[in-house]
Amino acid sequence: MDYVFSPPRQVALPVIGSSASYPVRRIFCVGRNYADHAREMGHTGREAPFFFAKPADAVLAVAAGTTATLPYPAQTQDLQYEVELVVALGGHGANVPAAAAGALIWGYAVGIDLTCRDLQAALKQQGRPWEISKAFDHSAPVSAVQPIARSGRIDRGAIWLDVNGQRRQHGDMAMMIWGVDEVLAHLSRYFALAPGDLVFTGTPAGVGRLQPGDAVRAGIDSVGELALDIGAPD
Ligand code: MN
Repeated sequence: MDYVFSPPRQVALPVIGSSASYPVRRIFCVGRNYADHAREMGHTGREAPFFFAKPADAVLAVAAGTTATLPYPAQTQDLQYEVELVVALGGHGANVPAAAAGALIWGYAVGIDLTCRDLQAALKQQGRPWEISKAFDHSAPVSAVQPIARSGRIDRGAIWLDVNGQRRQHGDMAMMIWGVDEVLAHLSRYFALAPGDLVFTGTPAGVGRLQPGDAVRAGIDSVGELALDIGAPD
């Protein structure tokens, strides 16, 4: 096909144990999916899951054993980390029952849902969309994908994040308010899910601020680790 200019490059993630890459289609994120984090954000009780999105080209792919550098976003004074289990889909599904949602999972990755908390707070107060606080360039650092064929199902196990060698977040995926199957079932009522879709499944307590020069290290049992340095403002 002829295009009026070259189509954008396909965003992709490395895959553990393979020379082939995982092509990214869309990025969906779940808000407040661990009770301790919901409390630290001022909410209580079990809400229905709610979703927001990031563009695929917000991915900052971080291969195993490498460290990526994120330019500190110029428009915020309060960039924050949120370590999350990322579910990488390999199947199609609309209106999927939770009992069948596991069949959509191709693999898992470690992700950081970077957030400009100051901008988000102002947008919430004004009742406006969150995009500029959540979907900015490089806002989705993601590790290599661990195929479910290698890891098996991941529904529990440690999820952690260190800043400059100090542990800031440490939770267990069993503490999710809505488990992965329930998250996918809810999401599939609104979007026909497809191969390449990434789903960020929420963060445990301990979110906090990043500064230029910080070294961020995050990990998830049975998935892998992610290394990110915070660079000077872009
Ligand atoms: Mn999040």
